Amino acid sequence: MRFLNVELVDIGANLTHESFDADRAAVLDRALAAGVTRMVVTGADVAGSRAAAALAAAAPGRLWSTAGVHPHHAAGMDAAARDALLGLLQQPQVVAVGECGLDYFRNFSPPQAQRAAFALQLELAVTTDKPVFLHQRDSHADFMAILGDYRGRLRAGVAHCFTGDRAQLEDYLEFGLYVGITGWACDERRGAHLRDVIPAIPGGRLMVETDAPYLLPRDLEPRPKSRRNEPAHLAHVTRVVAGIRGESFESVAAATTRTAIAFFGLT
Ligand SMILES: [Zn+2]
Repeated sequence: MRFLNVELVDIGANLTHESFDADRAAVLDRALAAGVTRMVVTGADVAGSRAAAALAAAAPGRLWSTAGVHPHHAAGMDAAARDALLGLLQQPQVVAVGECGLDYFRNFSPPQAQRAAFALQLELAVTTDKPVFLHQRDSHADFMAILGDYRGRLRAGVAHCFTGDRAQLEDYLEFGLYVGITGWACDERRGAHLRDVIPAIPGGRLMVETDAPYLLPRDLEPRPKSRRNEPAHLAHVTRVVAGIRGESFESVAAATTRTAIAFFGLT
């Protein structure tokens, strides 16, 4: 379905993922047909951030990218990685630092390395005056403590793929963060608590994202056999978010798009 008067921005699409190698152009076409006119391609390590920047450079006005090191890869964050990210952040289509943050769920990188890599990237965001694209899982207290060292110095930040509770949301909003909501909102079991949280996000702080190819909305009909998520499904996520907020699809689409364009400078 194409909503001719509606534009959406997918603020988190892992379009460099190998699952898109065979049909990336078709995926981008389907996104446009579904109203997703702009996308921010997530960088999760140096190589991935380079690939994301190259992808975005080839699609001006449609794709932008982030440059950063995900906490899973924090052990590889050294001076060379920092310099590589700084170089990427000079490119006009690279609009944010990240994704960066803390993830203590499985500790793929030691927590100490995660905290160091996170602080280093917040420093980069201050240096380059770019917004930050933040990831946090099972590490809320440490995450807020490190962010707190940068209060008043960051241009802006978005807590991407927010799955936390009301108290965590309050902390984020108080800090001034924006909030990214994914297809978790469409999951009756894992995302049930988001029904209380999503209406509490002020309209001007909310953005939507697919996190494709991950997080295929559970209630999507028909469900693709591949289980691969893609940006075209952002319309579905936005409709679910609108329903939870008691707002129209059109008004949530317009507000989240306006917010995303201003936040990342997608012009
Ligand atoms: Zn993430």
